[in-house]
Amino acid sequence: MAARILDGKAIAAKVRSEVAEGVARFRAAHGRPPGLDVVLVGDDPASQIYVRNKEKAATEVGMRGRVHRLSGTTSTRELLDLIAELNDDDAVDGFLIQLPLPRGVAETEVLDAVSPAKDVDGLHPINAGLLVLGRPKLASATPRGVMRLIGETGLDLVGKRAVVVGRSNIVGKPLAHLLLAQHATVTVAHSRTRDLADLCRQADVLVAAVGRAGLVRGDWVKPGAVVIDVGTTRDEKGKLAGDVAFAEACERASFITPVPGGVGPMTIACLLENALIAACERTQMAR
Ligand code: NAP
Repeated sequence: MAARILDGKAIAAKVRSEVAEGVARFRAAHGRPPGLDVVLVGDDPASQIYVRNKEKAATEVGMRGRVHRLSGTTSTRELLDLIAELNDDDAVDGFLIQLPLPRGVAETEVLDAVSPAKDVDGLHPINAGLLVLGRPKLASATPRGVMRLIGETGLDLVGKRAVVVGRSNIVGKPLAHLLLAQHATVTVAHSRTRDLADLCRQADVLVAAVGRAGLVRGDWVKPGAVVIDVGTTRDEKGKLAGDVAFAEACERASFITPVPGGVGPMTIACLLENALIAACERTQMAR
């Protein structure tokens, strides 16, 4: 069996055009565009690229995208002061703190200070809690992108076995809850999981979110499974690789995402969607 490729770029383009329509309606109603701000602390090269891409994507759908670049020596206090300003600024509908933060900055304290109403990364305990309770408001963009990709396959998740490899707060855990909300039977695997290959072989939907190139081999894939590869690792030449051995997995999966061009574009599109949701919720406007 040769898997069908889930084209994240094309699906993300659809999401972005839906967001652009919502942005136009918001602008017509409020006389201003929704505003998405990104806070970047330090000069991590990968983060600089991600942040530039987010700003550009926001501008392209008609939002006001703005980046706050702070030096790597910024203290927790200084960052908390900026967060308080963004929380109070009416022109800012949503914002995120680009991770990772430099060592020495108290990440939990910083993320907890973001107003839940503007928390487009869905990392505030209130948003994480609402998701666990099955009442999601702002859920992390990457898992939402993964759900949209799975939705494009037409697979009914009810009663299906889903295995999520990775348990981070930004990908693995929220994704597990989104899958559960669709009535999948979900197992979350991590670095201490035993017999990972056997577990993966039981998955109707297999999501890899680890960051280890080629970890998931072709023979870990159940024939006919939907395989979503979140992982991104750069080799010494700068080439991007996923967690799944793509060519091998294509022999068994029914659908599979490539890296690049799978989950990555969906993450940015769903972040824009979150910014629009936050803007509409704050102004009590239907989307
Ligand atoms: P993370 O916080 O480092 O979490 C990685 C997870 O993988 C952890 O739960 C870890 O387990 C688990 N893990 C590590 N080695 C393992 C192994 N050998 N077997 C099974 N599980 C293992 O990373 P993240 O932020 O979730 O990101 C995961 C990957 O997705 C990274 O490559 C990242 O770059 C990528 N990513 C891509 C996008 C995108 O838009 N394409 C967005 C976000 C993330 P423990 O908890 O036990 O340590």
